[in-house]
Formats: sequence, structure tokens, C-alpha cells
Amino acid sequence: MPGLMGKLLLTWSSVPGTLGAVSLLTRLFGKTVVNPEHQYDGLACVEWAGCTSEGYGQIWFQGKMVGTHRVAWEVVHGDIPKGLWVLHHCDNPPCLRTEHLFVGDQFDNMQDRSEKDCVNVAWGEALPAHKLAPELVRNIRKDYESGLVSYKGLGKKYGVSASTAGKAAKGLSWRRIPS
Ligand SMILES: [Zn+2]
Repeated sequence: MPGLMGKLLLTWSSVPGTLGAVSLLTRLFGKTVVNPEHQYDGLACVEWAGCTSEGYGQIWFQGKMVGTHRVAWEVVHGDIPKGLWVLHHCDNPPCLRTEHLFVGDQFDNMQDRSEKDCVNVAWGEALPAHKLAPELVRNIRKDYESGLVSYKGLGKKYGVSASTAGKAAKGLSWRRIPS
């Protein structure tokens, strides 16, 4: 995909971003890989190939590690509004392609992850939204083990998609929840 990086660089450098340190951009671009296997809206993901934490790219900036997707978003849009998270449309944590990023609140974050069967990443943070979930997962598993309910049935019963229910039931997601 020729020109993609150039185009991104042009976009980024034309914005008076708050994190617009050239060295940061250089480091950011120096470690990205275009992954045509992973796309959103017809655009290939641009993944961070440096160090990661829980799948999210991390870069050292001003004395601390910050998420590369957060930096990318800030370079284009400015400061992330207080209390908001930078989330991925593409469900690809190392991706820092700004077309694939959006901001949302904690609820969006949970919903986004939950819809993508990734709730386990954020598990254990003391937020009310999480409190019901382990119980719910246990119930889904119990029902599943009874062998009487289909994934679709489980999904309907617990207000999630059949695929979410299926993955929870089989232990493919929420692995950290003890039964
Ligand atoms: Zn992406």
C-alpha cells in the first residue's frame, strides 16, 4: 500500500497536535506495520510493532508509558476529553490508524469490549458495571452445561449475542472468572 504512511504523516504533521513532538512521531511511525489482513471500513490496520501491554501498543513519552492509539488520536484531534477513552472500531488493540479510532466513555468501552468478547481484559476494576458480569457468566455456563439451551437461547436469556454467549459458555472468553 504505497503512500499510506506518507499520507498519514502529512495528515498528522499538518495538525497542530498537543503531542506533536517530531521525535515522538518518528518513533511512532518507525515501528508501525500495515496489516492488510485486518481491516475496518475497507482500510487496513496500521499496527504498532513495538512493546505492548495487554495487546495495546505502548510508547515512552514525557516520562511515562502511554498507549500508542491514544497518542495517535491526540496527534490528529488534540487532547482526549477528560474521562473519555480511545476505542477501536477495528477491534485490534495494537492498531493506531486514526480512522479506526473513536472516543467513548467507560460505558462505551465496556460495551465495545463486551460486544467483542474482550471483557476479560478490563476485569477486576471496581466499577458497578462489572459486578453483575461474573455472576452472569457463571449462569450462562451453568445453563450451557445443562445441555438444554442453545447459544442462541442463552443469548436471548441473558441479553447478549449468541456468539458472546457461546464463547462465555465454552470458556473462550472471561477465562478469569472461576466457576
Ligand atoms: Zn485498525
